[in-house]
Amino acid sequence: MISVYSFTHINSLDSFTSIELILFSIIFLSFGSFASSLIFRLSPNNSKNINIVFPRSFCPNCKNTLKILYLIPLVGYLIQKGRCQKCNKKISLFYLFSEILFLLTGMVIIFLYGKTVISFFVFFIFFLFFILFFLDLRFYYLPFSINIMLIMVGLSSNYFFNIFVDESAYLLSISKGLFGFYGLVLGYFSLWLINFIFKIFSKKDGIGGGDFILFGSIGSIFGPISLPIILFIGSLFGCLMYIFLKNASKKEIPLGSCLILGSFAYFVIKKFELFNHLLVL
Ligand SMILES: [Zn+2]
Repeated sequence: MISVYSFTHINSLDSFTSIELILFSIIFLSFGSFASSLIFRLSPNNSKNINIVFPRSFCPNCKNTLKILYLIPLVGYLIQKGRCQKCNKKISLFYLFSEILFLLTGMVIIFLYGKTVISFFVFFIFFLFFILFFLDLRFYYLPFSINIMLIMVGLSSNYFFNIFVDESAYLLSISKGLFGFYGLVLGYFSLWLINFIFKIFSKKDGIGGGDFILFGSIGSIFGPISLPIILFIGSLFGCLMYIFLKNASKKEIPLGSCLILGSFAYFVIKKFELFNHLLVL
């Protein structure tokens, strides 16, 4: 059994040939580029004629279709000097940010886990979390399709490889195969119940339906015991956002983004054994 928390494969990048490093860099940059274009294409403001494949990428300002050369991550941005070659409008820095973040994150993942199935799952989960985080932050939108993919990744990583299964499975006597499934059910229904009780008193929904599914997806990855901790850390992020980010007119917190930050914090705390003297996680 290999666990994402206890397993560390390599300690230096010498374990990779330069060809492998170049190949991995290209893959990570491409996923960064793909993720930012997916955020743009899935956003609810888009017309129904845009899907994840068609039409080919274009300038959002003048609608000019981009040359193949400009679609190459980093290179495309640099060749165009950060501006559309037709209308001279600045290209959003988000594309560059996304590509560089994916390159760095991918490198950290293969540094920690090497060329293993864990690297594959952790990177894929990061990819899906990234898309959901920014869609919820900007549009309060968590697409069902991405949530379902996250659930499938969560369930399969635990069912076939026990990647995120931890000692809580033994404590609760959950079979390893059902670890993700219990997390999924508990995540979905706990938020649903909180909203149900809220609705009795306030007569309106306090939490969106996408959030129930997202919390279920998080449970399918990290298991049932992780959920109260992730909800707690996520709520702290929510309070910070409420204080610092929001303008007074629209006091709505992107709960999904907060839960994703909570999940990331939970993973880092467990992986690097922070607060171990304070908490038994
Ligand atoms: Zn343009």
